[in-house]
Amino acid sequence: MKKHIAVIRGDGIGPEIVNEAIKVLDAVAEKYGHTFEYEDAYMGGCAIDKFGDPLPESELKKCVESDSVLLGAVGGKKWDSVPGNMRPEKGLLRLRAGMGVYSNNRPAKIWPQLASASPLKPETVAKGIDFIIVRELIGGIYFGEHKTYEDGEKISEDVMKYSESEIERIGRIGFETARRRRKKLCSVEKSNVLDTSRLWKSVMHRLADEYPDVELSDMLVDNCAMQIVKDPSQFDVIVTENMFGDILSDEASMITGSIGMIPSSSLGKTSCGLYEPIHGSAPDIAGQDIANPIGTILSAAMMLRYSFDMPREADDIEEAVGKVLGEGWRTGDIMSAEEGLKRAKCSEMGTLIAKAVKAI
Ligand code: NAD
Repeated sequence: MKKHIAVIRGDGIGPEIVNEAIKVLDAVAEKYGHTFEYEDAYMGGCAIDKFGDPLPESELKKCVESDSVLLGAVGGKKWDSVPGNMRPEKGLLRLRAGMGVYSNNRPAKIWPQLASASPLKPETVAKGIDFIIVRELIGGIYFGEHKTYEDGEKISEDVMKYSESEIERIGRIGFETARRRRKKLCSVEKSNVLDTSRLWKSVMHRLADEYPDVELSDMLVDNCAMQIVKDPSQFDVIVTENMFGDILSDEASMITGSIGMIPSSSLGKTSCGLYEPIHGSAPDIAGQDIANPIGTILSAAMMLRYSFDMPREADDIEEAVGKVLGEGWRTGDIMSAEEGLKRAKCSEMGTLIAKAVKAI
């Protein structure tokens, strides 16, 4: 298969970690006879330096016209003093809006080799943590009307609004994601209090008729926050609205240990997605070849699974990461005092995983 990938290396450690993800994608291409073509696109600080704009139209066009976008990270002190609408992060928001990606998908997976890094009890971790949160990204209270006014005292309002169609499109991503995994979908809301949540729940149940192979359950958001720390092994896919997803996905990433390990995808109406690790540009370690590239490599695996329909290839990358960790290789952020561990540079980690992909 031939795929055209727009590559935004970005700032700080971005170029280093993206190089390693490309190394691993090339290993997959060689093994399975695929062709991955890469086209550099500029967004963030590097785009400000090159074009005076964090996301020029020409660069957005490259992304929208690609089969998917692989992103490192953007931002850094150098651009902290530029005006608000010219900041690197504005480029990222414009990219998400321009690509129309309304669904943010963030897996929470613990690698048994890194279990000691989790703040949860060992017996809870031993049951396994491997779920995805599908979060609605461009609706709800963050996008409703916000106002503050005087009426004898200051009063503020933030409007939470969802239409059936907005819920349906994210609901479908939840069901489709579950269908590609263990076929369990948990819809999280606050239907004991909120109208938007009651509508949410009714749309999810209507959609369930179309996905008889997926088991749908409902959970109130406060209970879900507890269950994620009490027994995360019960979850496969969680689908929820913007604010609940924002909070739950940060909670979920914490229980797995290191920020350098976690990938994400953002998808919209088409299969063209945006794939990036959840961390930032880590300027404190940039240019030293010591960053952990695994979050970016696993983002590339998500691209293969969710945008290119290449589940075997994605499985290979995930298995290769497990194998390399199992052999004791660690970048600095996941190093511990455990016996037998070997320190790998960012570039070595990419090479080891690429080799392991070919060997599987
Ligand atoms: P950060 O995620 O970049 O770094 C936080 C800490 O984690 C740092 O100590 C860093 O060294 C470490 N870290 C992060 N990724 C790592 C990796 N792959 N390997 C090893 N260690 C890693 O967050 P920050 O320091 O708050 O932000 C730095 C810059 O990144 C800021 O300009 C911020 O705006 C930007 N940012 C960008 C994105 C994005 O591009 N999506 C997301 C968050 C922050």
